[in-house]
Amino acid sequence: MDEDLRFDGARAAQIAEFIEPLRVAPGRRVRLAEDFDPRYKADFLGKKDGEALLRTGIGVLAEYQRRLAAQETYGVLVCLQALDAGGKDGTIRHVMSGLNPQGVRVSSFKVPSAEELAHDYLWRYAQRLPGRGEIGIFNRSHYEEVLVVRVHPDNLDRQKLPPSARREGVWERRYREINDWERYLSDNGFKVVKMFLNLSKEEQRKRFLKRIDVPERNWKFSAADVRERGFWDDYQRAFSEMLSATSTAWAPWYVIPADRKWFARICAGAILAHTLIGIDPAYPEVGDEARRDLAEIKKVLEAEAPL
Ligand code: ATP
Ligand code: MG
Repeated sequence: MDEDLRFDGARAAQIAEFIEPLRVAPGRRVRLAEDFDPRYKADFLGKKDGEALLRTGIGVLAEYQRRLAAQETYGVLVCLQALDAGGKDGTIRHVMSGLNPQGVRVSSFKVPSAEELAHDYLWRYAQRLPGRGEIGIFNRSHYEEVLVVRVHPDNLDRQKLPPSARREGVWERRYREINDWERYLSDNGFKVVKMFLNLSKEEQRKRFLKRIDVPERNWKFSAADVRERGFWDDYQRAFSEMLSATSTAWAPWYVIPADRKWFARICAGAILAHTLIGIDPAYPEVGDEARRDLAEIKKVLEAEAPL
């Protein structure tokens, strides 16, 4: 019998406790600047220990993924949001490194195409949802529809909406529609978990400078990112409102302190672990009859052994 590689009850409780301060309780009014410190890190954890912890954690995540895939009943959707240079790509690379690529699908969402704009605003996200047994990762997500689209309303103009969908209250309506959609997914076996990598303005400035100074990072730099930085306060407001309105019992938001990349990755790993522990996927049980069949087949195969 293989040993059980899952987290035991004590470890599961530690993980839950570790991520609890990051969770946005449903109905809580978030003011990002006051409520969440981008530089926060747990006192007991140093960088070295933290990285070792992440490595072991990833091995266990892989076991949960195998179970999830074998069971083919539940799916997981991870939504990652951040401002530019928030560390989405690195988080995906590090946290997902131990998972089986066959069971993970990363989808990145950019400025919508003409075809995408010819549909309802959730259409393109629905196309990329994970199947049962899969982990889907949205690098940017349907939340752009209440973030960049809100900060730059010309995006809304391009969405060809009927007047009734543009009227007063459009953001509240979108929050409700998103909550409903996620509830529907959750009710049907797809657990939605949302992570916001919360970066400080000063740390963003430093990361942009590094992208300019280090030649290998130049490709990552875009002047458009610096233009977006000019809208910092608008984004903070849009994020605060979005977090307040869309963290639900069935699809919680976690605000991850992102100024230290290593700590952010541990948080993301822990949140994914917590989600999978909650699902507790199991290998399908083989019934007595099937087991008898296996025993028969085994005999036949053994009898074929070369003398
Ligand atoms: P990278 O780390 O490579 O820069 P990225 O996610 O920032 O990754 P980009 O191609 O730089 O990718 O930017 C994607 C852009 O698409 C972002 O500026 C984002 O705000 C924008 N975008 C995403 N979804 C929408 C949307 N629904 N409407 C309008 N713009 C969107
Ligand atoms: Mg970018």
